Parts: sequence; structure tokens; C-alpha cells
Amino acid sequence: MANKTIKVTVWNENKHEKTSERLNELYPGGLHTYIAGFLDKDEEIEVRTATLDDPECGLTQEVLQDTDVLVWWGHMAHHEVPDEVVIRVQNAVLAGMGLVVLHSGHHSKIFKRLLGTTCNLKWRDGARERIWTVKPNHPIADGVPETFALDCEEMYGEPFDIADPQEVVFMGWFNGGEVFRSGCTWVRGNGKIFYFQPGHETNPSFQNEHVQRIIRNAVHWAAPVKKNIPLICPMVQPVEG
Ligand code: ZN
Repeated sequence: MANKTIKVTVWNENKHEKTSERLNELYPGGLHTYIAGFLDKDEEIEVRTATLDDPECGLTQEVLQDTDVLVWWGHMAHHEVPDEVVIRVQNAVLAGMGLVVLHSGHHSKIFKRLLGTTCNLKWRDGARERIWTVKPNHPIADGVPETFALDCEEMYGEPFDIADPQEVVFMGWFNGGEVFRSGCTWVRGNGKIFYFQPGHETNPSFQNEHVQRIIRNAVHWAAPVKKNIPLICPMVQPVEG
């Protein structure tokens, strides 16, 4: 058996799944099941899923301590995630857990809390998008072409009210003329964060091989060297003298 060294939890609010036929056609079992499915093909990744329906959103302290990278998809139910769960996830990131936020997760409580900004943007569904790799030597861009198109995605446009990213790895261009920082990284405490814009629930973007590659790469990039680092602030004696 392959050496599964990166433990991933894919979190989905699992709301559109209950009403959208289109989503269920595209992603049988829901977005979390589909995303977990292509991540699980990676020989280093061990994946589980969690949803809003689970007790404590499936994000108990035990689960977070056993998670190297949390992948987040949410849209209409951001407000239903209890603040105590959000704070628990924030502390896990500060202690080293990686976080990959997808598409409409830009308005999730956890993303806004970690960035400290509104994360507002412009939007319109039904656009054609062209993604450009602007940092080809970045680990998240490994194996990703310089450019590829998504025939139907939701346009997200600038200004995107985010804390200045550490790196912009991908830019998106839309056929309405808008541009967007579609793939950005940050570090908060000991944790690495990646945001990726494609992934509207009724568009087939998660079936795209390059999108899958980017999310897989992002999991590898965000995986901590060391996790569960204690968040303490001790008064200490001098080491010398
Ligand atoms: Zn959307």
C-alpha cells in the first residue's frame, strides 16, 4: 500500500446538493465526495469528508488535530457555521494546519476571519474564463499549463477585498472583460492558505484536469512540516548567562 502521509479533510456545507439536479448530475454524492475522490487518487493523500450536517460540522478538535490540510467549499450557509467551530479552525491554521478555500468560500467566516477583510468581489455566473499561470515555478503550478480555459464559470471580478496575498499564482480573465486574482497564497501563524476561484456548484470546473491538478498541488504545498504547534506565550528564563 502506498504511503499516505498527508491527511486531508474536505469540508462542504452540502446544501445545494439537496436541491440542485444539475449539481448532482455533475458531482454524484456531492461536491465533497467528488473532490475527495480525485484527491484520494494521489498516493500521498488520505482523505475524509465532513459537512455542516455532522455534529460540530464534522470539525471536532480530534478531527482537526488529525488533519494536515482542510479543503473548504461553502456558499449559502456560511452563517450556519458556529463561531466556536470557526475559532477552532482558525487556531488549527495558526498551529500549522493548511487551508485550501475554494470558490464561494471567499465569504466563509473562516476565510474572512483569517484575512481580516470583507473578501467582497464582483460576480456573474455563466462566463467563459481563461486562467493564466503567473508564477510557473510555484509548487501549486507544477504540471499546470501556462493557460487553460473553462467554458462556463462564474465570473469573480476585481476589486477583490483581500489582505494582500503573499503570492498570486493564477490570474483569471473573463469574457466580460473582468480580471481576477484567481489563485492566491497567504501565511497566517504557522499555517499556509491557498484560495482558488473556479468551482461554482453547477459548472463542471472540478472535472477539469488542470483544476484538479491545482487543488492537489495546493494540498501538497499547504501540508505542514510540523502541525499542532502549541499557541503559547510563555515568560522564560535566559538560555545563556
Ligand atoms: Zn458560485
